[in-house]
Amino acid sequence: MNRVDLTESELFSFSTDGATLDRLGITRDDALFLINRDHPVPEDREFAIDEYKTSGVLMNRAMLEDYARLSAAVTERTNDKLYVMSSFRSFEKQRALFDEDPETAAEPGFSEHHSGLALDVYVYMYAGAGFLNSEAGKFVNRNAHDYGFIIRYPRGKEKVTGFPFEPWHIRYVGSPHARYISLNNITLEEYIESLEEGVFYEIDGSIVSRQIGDLLYAPQKAIDITVSEDNTGGYIITAKMK
Ligand SMILES: [Zn+2]
Repeated sequence: MNRVDLTESELFSFSTDGATLDRLGITRDDALFLINRDHPVPEDREFAIDEYKTSGVLMNRAMLEDYARLSAAVTERTNDKLYVMSSFRSFEKQRALFDEDPETAAEPGFSEHHSGLALDVYVYMYAGAGFLNSEAGKFVNRNAHDYGFIIRYPRGKEKVTGFPFEPWHIRYVGSPHARYISLNNITLEEYIESLEEGVFYEIDGSIVSRQIGDLLYAPQKAIDITVSEDNTGGYIITAKMK
């Protein structure tokens, strides 16, 4: 992660309302929306949820293509089929799970599953902690970052995430963030915190910047710009350079 020095004349500003983003061709998603005990989801917050192929599985629109790539890679590499145990969950559904098992389930508002960006995956005969005993589980845990996903609750980070190791719970954050988080053994919390406000970074050939305010800035030469609210009061801008 290198800092990129850009002068004011190399930047342009934009607001985050839908009309402006559409006009500028900027994509808005929630890939970097942080959800944890300190950063719950407001109950009225809506996410872009779509059905994955015709599976009946609902997930965040931002990850449909990358999940298809991950799933295909698992089958190609391990001859096994990746299934989704749990994906998008409404507040009502989370409330029911929590009432049933308050030890394991998160309280409504505190589950990443509300965003549709988290998936609990498994293969036949290997679910939950046992997922890691399968070839597919090993592949997912080692390579999900190449498809935009992280193991959201890694081993040894319980104090940061508030969750024990969950090798089956994958979270979409997109590229280049997933590779950076995974290869540096950090969490989404630590990643967002490491992005100094207003600074532009180069990560794996992409430009990344966390900004706070009504007006955001991107390089004039940026293309494929995506903006994600981070749920800590800022926005994270991801782009490529021409
Ligand atoms: Zn989960």
